[in-house]
Amino acid sequence: MPKPPKRFSNSNTPLPARPHFGDAGSAPKRKKREDSIGLPGNVEVVEEIPELIAFSELGLSEPIARAVSEVGFEAPTPIQARAIPILLAGHDLMGLAQTGTGKTAAFALPLLQRMDPDMRGVTQALVMAPTRELAVQVAAGILKLGKYTGLRVVPVYGGQPIDRQIRALRAGAEIVVGTPGRLQDHLRRGSLSLDNIKVCILDEADEMLALGFLEDMETILGALPETRQLAFFSATMPPRIGQLTKRFLKDAKLVSIESKRRTVDTTNQTYYEVPRGKKLEALARVLDMETPGPTIVFCRTRQETNDVAEALRLRGHNADPIHGDMNQMERDRVLKRFREGQSDLLVATDVAARGLDIDSVTHVINYDIPWDVEQYIHRVGRTGRAGRKGDAITLVEGRERRLLLSLERMIGAPIKPARIPTAADIAARRREVFRDSLVEVLEARNYEGHLSMVEELGESYDPAEVAAAALHMFWQSQHSSAAEVAEEVAADREQPESGMTRLFIGLGRQDGLRPGDIVGAITNEAGLEGKAIGAIDILDRTAFVEVPSHESENVIGALRRTKLRGRKPKIGPAHG
Ligand code: AMP
Repeated sequence: MPKPPKRFSNSNTPLPARPHFGDAGSAPKRKKREDSIGLPGNVEVVEEIPELIAFSELGLSEPIARAVSEVGFEAPTPIQARAIPILLAGHDLMGLAQTGTGKTAAFALPLLQRMDPDMRGVTQALVMAPTRELAVQVAAGILKLGKYTGLRVVPVYGGQPIDRQIRALRAGAEIVVGTPGRLQDHLRRGSLSLDNIKVCILDEADEMLALGFLEDMETILGALPETRQLAFFSATMPPRIGQLTKRFLKDAKLVSIESKRRTVDTTNQTYYEVPRGKKLEALARVLDMETPGPTIVFCRTRQETNDVAEALRLRGHNADPIHGDMNQMERDRVLKRFREGQSDLLVATDVAARGLDIDSVTHVINYDIPWDVEQYIHRVGRTGRAGRKGDAITLVEGRERRLLLSLERMIGAPIKPARIPTAADIAARRREVFRDSLVEVLEARNYEGHLSMVEELGESYDPAEVAAAALHMFWQSQHSSAAEVAEEVAADREQPESGMTRLFIGLGRQDGLRPGDIVGAITNEAGLEGKAIGAIDILDRTAFVEVPSHESENVIGALRRTKLRGRKPKIGPAHG
């Protein structure tokens, strides 16, 4: 049974008269200690958390809860379930969690909620991040979750002209996300003030130290108002983080996502390292290569299950999404199709896959890396059932490597690296599968009725040539050539010009599609001028067109309403 949720008062509670964690309801187990990892005595370790808490129980305000629901998060991740109540209650926090665990939303949601709506345009929150890439990513994450709050988020980092950032800051930003060096620059120039900071977050604190930002961090932390709330997030706890914690955190709680060691042994576990933004491509290739039986692909959000299932269908798989937003009838229908073999891929969120028990599942694919070992075990446990050996495959983007290593450590078994198959590997694999099915037909003598034609042709041609010609015809009707596959893969990867978005059209040369058809449809149906349309690539079975990003939804909508060459092809953003 889930424990009853704990309610916390939030936001504008004056500090330091903070409500005490766990005041309402039963208090979590806690203790103060000089930790073996060098944790100072001013940090209280929170070891137990409410299990299975729902977002609706966290006490998020309506505009924030609406955005959470819109991005499709179904349930808080472990670090969120632990950190959000503590931060909402106004405590300082030390969070031990790495990228991929959902740590950004863990601090972004309470941060958004603590902003004072009467102080528009005044900088009230500061997030420090080690790199430009992370700063931009965090700012985008906060913006998405804060969509309905009207709060402005400005990222500042080295490498971008400072004037542009100064203008953005002058225009008023309640939330500033930046690298320590550039933040210092702005403080020196007076383009940023810390006087009204209510919340300050250090993201990837250990990385910032490793990059030599200690001095900048200390200066900024030392200049914050007394009453600010402070949270550090870090994947590791080197002694210098302990020192910072001791010096700056007050009445703080420590939460971590470490859990008990667990084992899985009926499953082959591999991972593929995937370049950023290339997961769909990698998934498609892995599926082509593995030719698995019934497979469950795990995604994080509802939207992702829909997108991935749709993309797989476009590539000829029978894939169905399943997530918590579908009603019972829809879910039952999808599960029935899967059980009966009418679909071979179930693209699921964790919530939807809870308790799913299908013995025949041969593969579990983690499209997104699980946040912790519990989730990994739970997902992987959907395969290798009834004494069979299953396969568990995890797709990992560069930054998530660390999380993978800690998963590996927790399960005490290696997750073996594998190389993403190339187009040539896949073509070779297809030939192999084709050959195997041919042998099956030969062994079963399943060709009666066709022998007479071969005999007849055998009078004029070598029977081996007759067989080869028949194979050629069949192969042509079944597959694109390896060259075409490679061409499509390459085109799908093309990066559009800046300000432009690349769209995918599920129709190509073979269907008689020409550039004029695309231009005609876009100018007539979406009202764009011809010169606004960018590069057009027409391949054998698919096509790509670049349109201005701000018009992309308009164009997709218009193209979906109309016909191209008498057909209604799939239209959507290309997966760059
Ligand atoms: P982070 O560790 O903050 O880099 O987050 C990793 C990924 O998990 C991001 O793509 C988030 O959008 C996603 N994410 C964060 N929280 C949740 C959640 N509760 N449910 C589903 N996805 C989430």
